[in-house]
Amino acid sequence: MADCIFCKIANKEIPSNIAYEDEKIVCFHDMEPQAPAHVLIIPKKHIASLDDMTEEDKELLGYLMFKVQDIAALLGLKNGYRLVNNCGEDGMQTVKHVHFHLLGKRKLTWPPG
Ligand code: 5GP
Ligand code: ZN
Repeated sequence: MADCIFCKIANKEIPSNIAYEDEKIVCFHDMEPQAPAHVLIIPKKHIASLDDMTEEDKELLGYLMFKVQDIAALLGLKNGYRLVNNCGEDGMQTVKHVHFHLLGKRKLTWPPG
């Protein structure tokens, strides 16, 4: 989608530090890391948010979830991690291309703000 920053990252139109990529998803390091390990996992397909996924996206997002364990292992998150999705205005979603924050390598507090 034109003007979507994460589509541009997926298409290599703007640079990012990619940790994992395959034909369906891309995982890159967040530019403002909130933990020693902080990456974003996105589908290459533009889906604005979890609220915008359709029946046809079920397999793709299921695939993304299945890959989380591999990406966590790749990043050396042996002691656990947190997967976060911010959705919509109250969820404080700032980039309107669905993404999952994978955070780790420190003890994370709960509840989040
Ligand atoms: P949200 O608040 O929408 O859940 O998270 C968006 C995340 O994307 C933020 O953590 C922000 O630091 C990250 N981000 C926004 N623009 C860019 C970018 O151009 N490159 C990278 N690597 N991260 C970005
Ligand atoms: Zn997009």
